[in-house]
Amino acid sequence: MEYQAILEEIAEDVRPLVGKGQVADYIPKLAAVPLDRFAMAVQTVDGKTYAVGDARERFSIQSISKVFTLTMALKAVGEEALFQRVGREPSGTPFNSLVQLEYEDGIPRNPFINAGAIVVDDILVSAFPRPRNALLGFFRQLTGEDTVDYDPVVARSEADYGFRNRALANFIRSFENLENEVDRVLSLYFAHCSLAASCVELARSFVFLANHGLCPTTGERVLTRSQAKRISALMMTCGTYDAVGEFAYLVGLPAKSGVGGGISATIPGELAVAVWSPGLNKSGNSLAGTKALELFTTKTGISVF
Ligand code: GLN
Repeated sequence: MEYQAILEEIAEDVRPLVGKGQVADYIPKLAAVPLDRFAMAVQTVDGKTYAVGDARERFSIQSISKVFTLTMALKAVGEEALFQRVGREPSGTPFNSLVQLEYEDGIPRNPFINAGAIVVDDILVSAFPRPRNALLGFFRQLTGEDTVDYDPVVARSEADYGFRNRALANFIRSFENLENEVDRVLSLYFAHCSLAASCVELARSFVFLANHGLCPTTGERVLTRSQAKRISALMMTCGTYDAVGEFAYLVGLPAKSGVGGGISATIPGELAVAVWSPGLNKSGNSLAGTKALELFTTKTGISVF
């Protein structure tokens, strides 16, 4: 497949959309990111990398990090313990919504909405003596880059304005679905949302999922085949929030988005693809990024369907 030519065509096609949409202004540091960026990268399971645009520029991966925290929690405590505390259904509500938690007794709908990710972080705080270091080590191993890091300025900005996340964590704790101090859990949450990586690094870090749990670059088994399938299924059904149906309709790939404007997706057995453009649609997914992925599955003719 001529991936390089396809990426270049896509970059051209989406140009009118780049700069449209809104940056996530509820996190002041993210509001300062220039709107005019676009990048896309592909990492194939057989080790090839293709890229276009600002694909080596690092950005805030935000909720995309929730795939890595979920992977670690699944490995650490297993499915049964994990899914007693968090569901696996799409929420149909915005990613930072509080309403469902009240009538569903503090059990978040899925691990990718903020409430669910906070519960996953609580599991990591209980399971690892230094969860932040463990997560960073894992992310460095997956990207193959030991310079990827948290962005302390973004983390601080989120902590200062994280009123809803603080409300969610306290609410969950009131239902006794949080074992650790709210502040300790949130400090991990704000840290992993601040992870910065480029599209090339993100595509590389997702390729283990495309390769059924086995990292093709290091040869290490990150997840069993079945676990990789389950995480991919959750991405498909919950990875792009209340736009997940539309995203599946348009793109047809398991994917995870973040309010930094990044989206990572996989084509099982083939490749991981990452895209970045900071302008968001009203569901908090990258506007040009969603279009680029739609064009990618249309032009290549491959999706999970
Ligand atoms: N850090 C963001 C928040 O907690 C993550 C949300 C997202 O990327 N969708 O609100």
